[in-house]
Amino acid sequence: DRYVYRFGGGVSDGGKGDRNLLGGKGANLAEMASIGLPVPPGFTISTAMCTRYYEEGEVFPQSLRDEVAQGLAHIEQVTGKAFGDPANPLLVSVRSGARVSMPGMMDTVLNLGLNDETVEGLARGSGDERFAWDSYRRFIQMYADVVLELDHGAFEEALEIAKEDNGFTLDTELSAADLKALVAEYKALVEAEWGKPFPQDVHDQLWGAVGAVFGSWQSERAKVYRRLNDIPAGWGTAVNIQAMVFGNMGETSATGVAFTRDPSKGDRAYYGEFLINAQGEDVVAGIRTPQYLTKTAREDAGAKAASMEEAMPEVYGELAAVFDRLENHYRDMQDIEFTVEKAKLWMLQTRSGKRTAKAALKIAVDMANEGLITHRQAIARVDPAALDQLLHPTLDPSAPRDVIAKGLPASPGAASGATVFDADTAERWAADGKAVILVRTETSPEDIHGMHAARGILTARGGMTSHAAVVARGMGRPCVSGAGSISISAKDKILRVGGREVREGDIVTIDGATGEVMAGAVATVQPELAGDFGTLMVWADEVRRLKVRANAETPADCRTAREFGAEGVGLCRTEHMFFDAARITAVRQMILASDEKGRRAALDKLLPEQRSDFAEIFEVMAGLPVTVRLLDPPLHEFLPHEEAEFAEVATAAGVDIDTLKRRAAELHEFNPMLGHRGCRLGVTYPEIYEMQARAIFEAALDVAEKSGEPPIPEVMIPLVGTKRELDLMKAVVDKAAEAVFTERGKRVEYLVGTMIELPRAALKAGEIAETGEFFSFGTNDLTQTTLGVSRDDASRFLGAYVEQGIYAKDPFVSLDVEGVGELVEMAVERGRATRPDIKLGICGEHGGDPASIAFCEKVGLDYVSASPYRVPIARLAAAQAAL
Ligand code: PEP
Ligand code: MG
Repeated sequence: DRYVYRFGGGVSDGGKGDRNLLGGKGANLAEMASIGLPVPPGFTISTAMCTRYYEEGEVFPQSLRDEVAQGLAHIEQVTGKAFGDPANPLLVSVRSGARVSMPGMMDTVLNLGLNDETVEGLARGSGDERFAWDSYRRFIQMYADVVLELDHGAFEEALEIAKEDNGFTLDTELSAADLKALVAEYKALVEAEWGKPFPQDVHDQLWGAVGAVFGSWQSERAKVYRRLNDIPAGWGTAVNIQAMVFGNMGETSATGVAFTRDPSKGDRAYYGEFLINAQGEDVVAGIRTPQYLTKTAREDAGAKAASMEEAMPEVYGELAAVFDRLENHYRDMQDIEFTVEKAKLWMLQTRSGKRTAKAALKIAVDMANEGLITHRQAIARVDPAALDQLLHPTLDPSAPRDVIAKGLPASPGAASGATVFDADTAERWAADGKAVILVRTETSPEDIHGMHAARGILTARGGMTSHAAVVARGMGRPCVSGAGSISISAKDKILRVGGREVREGDIVTIDGATGEVMAGAVATVQPELAGDFGTLMVWADEVRRLKVRANAETPADCRTAREFGAEGVGLCRTEHMFFDAARITAVRQMILASDEKGRRAALDKLLPEQRSDFAEIFEVMAGLPVTVRLLDPPLHEFLPHEEAEFAEVATAAGVDIDTLKRRAAELHEFNPMLGHRGCRLGVTYPEIYEMQARAIFEAALDVAEKSGEPPIPEVMIPLVGTKRELDLMKAVVDKAAEAVFTERGKRVEYLVGTMIELPRAALKAGEIAETGEFFSFGTNDLTQTTLGVSRDDASRFLGAYVEQGIYAKDPFVSLDVEGVGELVEMAVERGRATRPDIKLGICGEHGGDPASIAFCEKVGLDYVSASPYRVPIARLAAAQAAL
């Protein structure tokens, strides 16, 4: 088997299609080399080696050693330098590179190949002694941290002391002699802490670094990141070994990171940061404040330090040409790392750039309009789940704001919450249901769980490409970074700014679109649904086959759903209408009535209320189907508890309190979810369904008369397990319909159907379809009853189930396609066999989940129904499923 793939110097053993084998970084380095871009020569050890390394107990096979020797020979041949050669030493970088980028999660070692002898060679060869010793100093520090896993605090302290002793503030002020002394100190530190001298053999250095990169795949932070991002542990990481190029060789050298378009807003403008006379990690680490790439960006920010466009116009021109080349080649926005060594441009990385939902949308629509991609590709480019970010409110521009600081608009969206100063507290408070804003001087990979738990992130330091900014954008969390005027004491849990203090628990608001930080909570407004969003939705609608409806039971929700493009109501849960404070007494009277007469008295009070509820909904949904589900009450939720509540019901019903209490006790159930609910209620008390059916048809006729556009009611019977149940309930509904039509002398079209939410219903779907004119899969209950897992109690143990891979995802969020899905498929098949034109939909929570929607497309349902805010997500997911 082959594990080493070369690139650079006119050779490319791989290309962009080899991402699984070479990792994203390795595949793209090979690709860039193959299209003639300037890439320092190197080679990639494949991800397959990582997997084998772990399988064989963390050892390297001899064959790999031979292949690596050949890889090094390739680099030596292209550069004309030799690894470990004191006269003309080759230095390499060693970097990780998984299939998907995991920013800040994995390890990197730079300047590898330096030792006490080669450092002299580097000094002679470069004619810059200071540079050589600074490189050696950096190398020891990085190697000690990443490979030897020594405490990096001691090294930083030694550096600080060296500067202090000389009265310096910047690293760059240290002379060659200072750095030489520092190297001696570093080596002593390594020996003291590690127990062995710093490795002088460059091959030992290399294998140590390769082992560390593979080791970083199993680090705690990498595991957390994989869990949060659904990345399988079996993928492994590749290792990229590449000739070093130096951005720290004086004023004509530089290093930077860039995006070919604005990753936050999506604007078509080069976007990035660079530092003159610096090495890669200086930009990301946020130690020095980076300079802007373009003159426009610098001017917009009111910054003084020259942009790259101004400071190095020629190299900038080359870089801009590379950006265009890459966008045209990859047909996507690219995230790039580059280094300029003595006015020569080198590309170190390109990848498809992470972006906010807003930017993803704009870039997809723009690129389609520019002809770079097709409409279908544009549809595929936008993650439906990420649309969530855009569909939620932003700060009301007219609301008063108490702005206390301003930072960079690192990730858009607005968030208010209680201030917390560490990731653990963020996680704890969020678990208690609190909205929190995580405030840090700067974030590191160790903060990732807190960032995930927080509504928003605020940092005092770091640029647009800082860890906080990149991770927040990836997670869709609003983020303001680099708010330089604030000072944070994490220890005392105080944020200070301009004489004011914010303490732990104080509410702050951040606006990730403007960078503003405000004291207190600020009012919000609804999102803008036109523009790029509207355009992409139109394209999605042209492609999708599945219809999208909404689960809604108030006129306001129905209106939102229609604005979001819902094509009907897929589930109107009538029991939600019964919770209303104004009617709860009548509802309780109905439930607690000891006979039909008592129930009818209560139902007479409820009828006009239901009728007007339905009329309002039908008006909003004019011309569209509305699925009204008859009462499916968890009875216990309606029973009175307080003395006063019993008293109220007693007065309304004209019975004494004790009788009522006895009746309430009789109604107590041990397992209400499997108790007297769904159509079981209609079977025992048909007058309830009769009243509801009457309300539906009266309202439908009222609306038809008023607007001329009749709704299309679909009356749905819940929790059916047998055909006979449905027969009985359909008869009740049909009888009520006929009665109303006769009274009014007019008719409306309607359907009667059932939910499929019990395994028995799925099994007997063929028979049930003889009566049912439509099926709507109630996958909440179907999941509960198929898995035998209580919807209401699952959260206590499901986390452990997902962690241990028993279920890939929470089956109440994303459909258990293998198990529950098989029942759905069976019911679809059997239902269609009986009634070929049977209407099929889904109305469980899964109707708004992209992966479940893909399944619904596969089995050929007619529609999905989701909560109003998820309707656009469902439209896009349905389009992607149809691509
Ligand atoms: C279901 O069970 O999937 C459903 C939609 O009904 P409910 O959630 O109201 O039980
Ligand atoms: Mg249900």
